[in-house]
Amino acid sequence: MSCFLLPKTVCRKILSIMSHFWWRNNKDSKGIHWRSWDKLSKPKYEGGREWNREKVERIVPPQERHLIERVQIGGPKSKDVYVWNYTKTCHYSVKSKYWVQCNEVGKRREPTMMNQPSFDFLYQLAWKSKASPKVHHFLWKCISNSLHVAENMKKKHMARDGQCLRCAHGTEKINHVLFQCPLARLVWALSSIPTPPGGILDNSLYSNLFHVLNLEKEYPKEDVQADTGPWILWRLWKNRNDFIF
Ligand SMILES: [Zn+2]
Repeated sequence: MSCFLLPKTVCRKILSIMSHFWWRNNKDSKGIHWRSWDKLSKPKYEGGREWNREKVERIVPPQERHLIERVQIGGPKSKDVYVWNYTKTCHYSVKSKYWVQCNEVGKRREPTMMNQPSFDFLYQLAWKSKASPKVHHFLWKCISNSLHVAENMKKKHMARDGQCLRCAHGTEKINHVLFQCPLARLVWALSSIPTPPGGILDNSLYSNLFHVLNLEKEYPKEDVQADTGPWILWRLWKNRNDFIF
């Protein structure tokens, strides 16, 4: 984002146009400035001209009207400055912009997913899991829905069929490969990883990943080999690729 100050000449020109609007009667004369800009910009009850309240009420939605009415109009002696609303000092910083992008802009663009674990938390769990960098990257791709499963390839018009080639039952989504395909179910059943509280792996990839990556907090250390979870996911994916290619 770039900010720039208006040149002084432009500011003077704007003030000049406003003055002409108030005081100029014809093209040839400047007109008489009956009141200074300081006084002119005061509220009506203090002798200024205030905003055109009627016009504001007609044009602007009610939720924004009160914001406009709160604006204090400065005179030529007051300086306009740029302020950034997301830091205590009101100065822009890249860190605060990143926060705005993730928490304000991003949320406005994406519909909120209900009854799903937080994506941020899932990413944190993935990066903190006791696995190698390649598995961390693989987990990131899972959460970001960036693996080349048949469904994703079909969406990109790179495959005609979205079916799972191994079982030929259902669309090959990431959740299918890692949790719902019969082979995946068998692997999880034989592993030391407990099934989720409901007894079955969910239809939601994110709930299942949350279950696998959050085992350490849910179960006593001695009851479960939580470290194996990410590696089982990785091996299921590698096995799928070996089968297809
Ligand atoms: Zn399958």
